[in-house]
Amino acid sequence: MASIFSKIIAGELPSYKIAENEEFFAFLDINPNAKGHALVIPKREENKLFDLSQSEYDGLMRFSYQVAKALEKTVPCERIGMSVIGLEVPHVHVHLIPINTMDDMRFVNKVSLTADEFTSLAAAIAANME
Ligand code: 5GP
Repeated sequence: MASIFSKIIAGELPSYKIAENEEFFAFLDINPNAKGHALVIPKREENKLFDLSQSEYDGLMRFSYQVAKALEKTVPCERIGMSVIGLEVPHVHVHLIPINTMDDMRFVNKVSLTADEFTSLAAAIAANME
């Protein structure tokens, strides 16, 4: 069965998209640790990060770098934290999180945003992509 993220890529489920290319897709996490919390995924569904091929892994990191740069320009923060977990959704995803404290990297402190806030945030990050 297709993962929830494959359904997002296919447009069967909605998302606040930031950017995509042939192989990768970036969008806002629906339950963010902090404003701007983004997910970067390969379009090809794979469960675990280190089951990606070396070149797919390199491509994912390269695309994540571009999204992180745009995030940093858009959301005031101390730095962008990065994490890969995958215990909830078995489709590789890189978490990029604008952080100010260590607590922002804990997946227990959440912020809530309105649909309008998600939409304008995704558009602002997208506009800062190079
Ligand atoms: P993990 O698998 O790394 O533990 O976490 C999965 C992440 O995906 C969580 O941060 C969760 O909020 C996010 N997530 C789960 N379902 C959806 C969804 O349908 N849309 C979006 N945008 N994010 C989701």
